[in-house]
Amino acid sequence: MNVAIIGAGAAGCFCALLLKRRLPEAQVDVYEGGSKALAKLAITGGGRCNLTNTFRDIRSLQEAYPRGAQLMKRAFCQFDHEATMRWFEAEGVALTVQDDQCVFPRSQDAMQIVHTLLRGMERAGVGLHLRHKVSRIEPLATTGFEISFMADAPAVHADVVIVTTGGSPRPQGLDFLAPLTLKIEPPVPSLFSFNISGMSDLMGIVANAVSVRLAGTKFRADGALLITHWGMSGPAILKLSSHAARHLAEVNYRAQLIVNWLADATEDDARLLIEQMQHGEGGKLVANARPSQIPSRLWLALTRRAGLRPDQRWSEVGRKQMNRLASILTADTYPIEGQSRHKEEFVTCGGISLNELNLNTLATKKHPNLYLAGEVLDVDAITGGFNLQAAWSMAYVVANGVAANSIGQTVKTA
Ligand SMILES: Cc1cc2nc3c(=O)[nH]c(=O)nc-3n(C[C@H](O)[C@H](O)[C@H](O)COP(=O)(O)OP(=O)(O)OC[C@H]3O[C@@H](n4cnc5c(N)ncnc54)[C@H](O)[C@@H]3O)c2cc1C
Repeated sequence: MNVAIIGAGAAGCFCALLLKRRLPEAQVDVYEGGSKALAKLAITGGGRCNLTNTFRDIRSLQEAYPRGAQLMKRAFCQFDHEATMRWFEAEGVALTVQDDQCVFPRSQDAMQIVHTLLRGMERAGVGLHLRHKVSRIEPLATTGFEISFMADAPAVHADVVIVTTGGSPRPQGLDFLAPLTLKIEPPVPSLFSFNISGMSDLMGIVANAVSVRLAGTKFRADGALLITHWGMSGPAILKLSSHAARHLAEVNYRAQLIVNWLADATEDDARLLIEQMQHGEGGKLVANARPSQIPSRLWLALTRRAGLRPDQRWSEVGRKQMNRLASILTADTYPIEGQSRHKEEFVTCGGISLNELNLNTLATKKHPNLYLAGEVLDVDAITGGFNLQAAWSMAYVVANGVAANSIGQTVKTA
């Protein structure tokens, strides 16, 4: 059997390695458009590679995977985060778990993951062809596929094709798949910061536990929020951008962001908190007595907006000011005016529709010997190692599916 894997990213390389170990007699070739394999993996996690997550803080997969949770649930029956950690440890990569449940190599070096995969591929006998950008995959009338390349490399024939070309925010990025007539969910960016003008005075402030939502929608998220020169970022905003990626693209990144600086407290809770401060700290200045979770610089800005003076004593704060402050603390509204990249890290929402797939093997229904894995599919996650976990899990499912198919078995899931 002759297998062509298109794209030497996390999903493609992991799949190639697993498949060649399972089927040593098969010819497994990886075709990569760039001059290096695993170039993106090398820069993940700021060069440290957040390769998975313990999932301890995730109640349902939908929380981590706004698109593709069902697929991931099935994939986890074959290869989940614990299997991923065991696999890398068995290959000699010691791992460490951070307090936020993100998993990194203990070396804090993404290149250790890159070298582990590349060394494994080389030892197993996978063929790696760099600078081979695929321009077209054509199903043949008999069996198999013809794969053509951009440059002058000759076309090749493969019995089985596995497409792992990653995300692409441009719809043309998937043109090479046109002859296969697969449905594509239009790609749009996910994981971005919000541009909000007038925030630069508060730049650098981190509020550790806020909840954020988009007015008039069901989209909400919680976590830490960072005020930047351009607007707002941090885990809560990135999570919201991921869950609302398609909606925000549709409204051209113009929306009202509502911030609850007291996490899930209601306006009544906030009023009670202020009353308690009036009673307990009545003699203190507004500037000097604040809820512990709100940083002092932010507190000054919020109280000023509520009409309170920093040199005013709590005992002098009237009912109207109190109501206004309670409303600002729990439903502070900002106009989103656009989006910008967060540390160059982004993923694509959209890609090949999951309706095209047999979810047990990730083979396409239209072409049983064509498989897909990774970000090329309409699967993406919030930050925290979940995107790479999706690549590992899907790559495993495909390798398992191809191997089982080659010996006429059906894939069993746990
Ligand atoms: C800066 C940055 C940091 C990130 N950090 C993290 C992190 O720490 N943890 C995490 O979980 N996720 C992270 N992500 C997301 C994660 O890297 C991706 O979700 C993951 O790499 C997707 O794997 P993939 O194999 O599907 O695609 P990719 O890794 O993108 O690989 C696709 C490969 O296909 C090749 N290709 C594309 N088109 C063609 C073609 N026509 N012919 C041949 N080859 C082609 C590309 O050149 C590429 O090498 C990060 C993303 C970025 C941009």
